[in-house]
Amino acid sequence: MKRSEYFISTLMSDPAEAQIVSHKLMLRAGMIQQMSAGIYSWLPLGLRVLQNIQSIIRKEQENAGSIEVLMPTLQSADLWRESGRYDDYGKEMLRITDRQNREMLYGPTNEEMITDIVRTHIHSYREVPKNFWHMQWKFRDEIRPRFGLMRGREFLMKDGYSFDLTYDDAKRSYYKMFLSYLRTFAALGVRAIPMRADSGPIGGEMSHEFIVLAETGESQVFCDKSWVEEDALQDAPHYNEDLEPFFKKLTARYSATEEKHDPDMVKNLDLVSARGIEVGHIFYFGTKYSQPMKASVTHPDGTEHPLEMGSYGIGVSRLVAAIIEASHDDKGIIWPASVAPFFAILINLKNGDTDTDALANSLYLACQEKNISVLYDDRDERAGVKFADADLIGSPWQVIVSPRNCAMQKVELKNRTNSETHLLSVEEVLAFLADKKPVI
Ligand code: ATP
Ligand code: MG
Repeated sequence: MKRSEYFISTLMSDPAEAQIVSHKLMLRAGMIQQMSAGIYSWLPLGLRVLQNIQSIIRKEQENAGSIEVLMPTLQSADLWRESGRYDDYGKEMLRITDRQNREMLYGPTNEEMITDIVRTHIHSYREVPKNFWHMQWKFRDEIRPRFGLMRGREFLMKDGYSFDLTYDDAKRSYYKMFLSYLRTFAALGVRAIPMRADSGPIGGEMSHEFIVLAETGESQVFCDKSWVEEDALQDAPHYNEDLEPFFKKLTARYSATEEKHDPDMVKNLDLVSARGIEVGHIFYFGTKYSQPMKASVTHPDGTEHPLEMGSYGIGVSRLVAAIIEASHDDKGIIWPASVAPFFAILINLKNGDTDTDALANSLYLACQEKNISVLYDDRDERAGVKFADADLIGSPWQVIVSPRNCAMQKVELKNRTNSETHLLSVEEVLAFLADKKPVI
């Protein structure tokens, strides 16, 4: 993409309305624009990041054997009356009346709707286990929408729902999603620690929030230091193996949200006490919906029982903010390669100069041929402006074409993370980028 033909509207100073760094940087890099409280438009740069995150989540869900569907944003109130949640949900639910005076709502979540789909189509033990997921906009009329995408009113969620015959099967589905979430967040380039979370009236061990540690996080969390220092996916099993030992091994390491924190259990631990951002939540809830909504199947012995369910959510739009909270410096964003809006930014330091133009153009075309996503800053701007913008936008690599190096047919390759630079030939830089580029 040529910057001169593209649309990125950057700001040099912090906007007054933003309090936390991710919100500031997203506005400054021209990623989003607020349309009303907690409701945002995605500008081109922000949308590219969101779409990369979506692709990674989709791939990991497919790897875990979960099946994609797409349910609508608008739901009927009657469906929610069946589970009893229409009255329970309160003011966070946006209630709408259509022209026939039918009561509708903008979905804050989809347990009822997926249960309706399953009860329509699945009737026998032979048709389960099944795990369905979708990625769809949700609306929750949060009392205090704030921090940009972190707590929006309209936000993108990946939500999945498992349906099993027995509690033991439901546990297996839970373990699978537990592992799949670890893999997903690792692929996104962010460390999200599973923490024991409130499981409501059902109780039990099967509720985990995935937490990104960040000073600006809204929750207080506690975990053993090893969660921060070690790779949780070390020795991770394959999905077709028994996942229980891995789950047990990891959950034996202390980690808990404030509601579940037990000071007696951590006396001899090297404890990290920190703020955290909830980017995912997995949850077993048994027959809470399948029982009242009559989503049952016949078992091999001929008896009929409601399905065992769990739900698995990822805050997709919140993740954009959480990744920035976890990865930035005072110059701007530092994207993990897998989610970066562009893998590299090509900076022509002397636009209009025959030699630098020729070199930069040929590099740009070669990147396109090799499928390396690159933003070519071909504007008539001062070097300082181009450098500041490139650091703000935060692509992992910058390729700098200057008149001096151009004379030697060399370019500079700069690593956004540590600012290290290397003088390379065009062939070397192309080979390097082609080798390192993420495959989504
Ligand atoms: P929170 O405790 O932050 O209000 P929640 O527990 O109500 O979240 P869930 O119902 O578990 O949220 O939804 C799944 C995921 O959706 C959460 O883990 C979070 O990442 C994301 N999410 C929830 N509410 C919002 C919001 N208002 N804005 C952006 N993302 C959200
Ligand atoms: Mg939650």
